[in-house]
Amino acid sequence: MTQTEYKIYIDDVIRRVEFSRVRVSGYHIVKIVAISKYSISEDIEKLYNIGQRAFGENKVQDLKVKATELKDLPLEWHFVGNLQKNKINNLLDINPTLFHALDSVELALELQKKLEARDMTLDTLLQINSAKEESKHGVMPEVAREIYKQIQDECPNINLRGVMSIGAHSDDRAVIKKSFETTYDIYKELDGATICSMGMSGDFELAIECGSNMVRLGSVMFNK
Ligand SMILES: *Cc1c(COP(=O)(O)O)cnc(C)c1O
Repeated sequence: MTQTEYKIYIDDVIRRVEFSRVRVSGYHIVKIVAISKYSISEDIEKLYNIGQRAFGENKVQDLKVKATELKDLPLEWHFVGNLQKNKINNLLDINPTLFHALDSVELALELQKKLEARDMTLDTLLQINSAKEESKHGVMPEVAREIYKQIQDECPNINLRGVMSIGAHSDDRAVIKKSFETTYDIYKELDGATICSMGMSGDFELAIECGSNMVRLGSVMFNK
C-alpha cells in the first residue's frame, strides 16, 4: 500500500476503536499499541508517519532489533510476550515503556532482583489467564488480586500499572466476552491500577466494550 492508501486503511481501524469506546463513554480513552511482530521496520515507519507512536513486540530479540533500527524515531516500545528469566537483562537493556506479561510471582522476584541491581523501575502489567486455558500464560483469576498485592509489597522496583489478558480462544462471542469481563472485574478492584490491556485484531471491539483501555493490534494495524 502507498502511504495514502495506508492512511485511509488506518483511519478505518481508528473509526472502529472510536465507535466502541464512545459506546462505553465519551470519557473512555483507549490507547492503541501496534503489535509489529509480523512487520518490518519499514512498515513501522509508515505507521509512524501516520501518527502512531506506541509499538509492541512479543520476542525480546525482535524488540531489540527493531528498537535499534528505529532508534532515531520517538517511539514507545511495549513488550507483550512471555519473558524467560534468561532474557530479563536483554529486555531491561531496551528499557521498554511497558511490560504487559508478568505471569508469576517467581518471575516478579527475579525481575525485581535485576531491576534493583540496575537501580531502575519498570512499568508492568500482571497477565491474567482469564479463560483458564492450558495454552496461555498468566495467573489464574481467583488468585490474581492476591498475587498483584504480593508483587506490590515485595517488588518495589516493579511498578504495577494494571492487568493484561488475551481473550478466550473461541468462536463463541459470549465465551470471549466472559473472559474480558473476568479480567475487567479484577482490574476494577486493584489498588491504583489504570491500565486494562485486552483486545487484539479479532476481538478488540468487544474488549473495549468490556472496559479495555489499551488494545494490542497486530494484523489489523499492519493489514497482514
Ligand atoms: C501477536 C499479539 C497480539 C496482536 O495479535 P493480532 O491478532 O495480530 O492483533 C496482541 N497481543 C499479544 C500478546 C500478541 O502476542
